[in-house]
Amino acid sequence: MPLPEIDDYPARLQFRFCPLCAAPLERVERDGRQRLVCPRDGWTHYPTPNLAATVVVEHAGGVMLLRRAIEPDIGIWHLPIGHLEFGEPPADAARRETTEETGLLLDEPVFLDFEHSPSYGDPRMFYIVFCYRAMSAGGELRANEENSEARVFPADALPELKWTSQRRAVAAWRAWREGRAWVPGRPARI
Ligand SMILES: [Zn+2]
Repeated sequence: MPLPEIDDYPARLQFRFCPLCAAPLERVERDGRQRLVCPRDGWTHYPTPNLAATVVVEHAGGVMLLRRAIEPDIGIWHLPIGHLEFGEPPADAARRETTEETGLLLDEPVFLDFEHSPSYGDPRMFYIVFCYRAMSAGGELRANEENSEARVFPADALPELKWTSQRRAVAAWRAWREGRAWVPGRPARI
């Protein structure tokens, strides 16, 4: 599949002015690709995907899921998930987001896999989501303002999960639980 060109970028990445000096950006051919470049100081735009972390949290004998209360995808069930802060290791983001969203503390998250896919909010944007598993380790379960409900489901009776990052995390977690091999980064069926 051809990579997106500048005109295919999501609206939020359609930069027109240099963020350093406010000069209008120019389109310049670099290594066979068009880049947005500042003619004054050479600042060059290299767009990157958004980065997020998600966790399969084992809690009270089941898996903890949240019901989303905001758009997009209001009403769906999902694992704790959120953006990485700049400089924050993905496993730390996984822990922080879980505590923010559910009130639960976690033991050390274990990496399962990552998912690279278009954003559901804007299909021209891309996400890389780091998927972890972890056990709860204290705290008190509650939903925050982004979710209407936090509920523990039996592992064999999880509701359908819409986001591919969530399906990948759960599929990799099931493989680990059942002692099956799972190769991260391989486009397995999820
Ligand atoms: Zn500039």
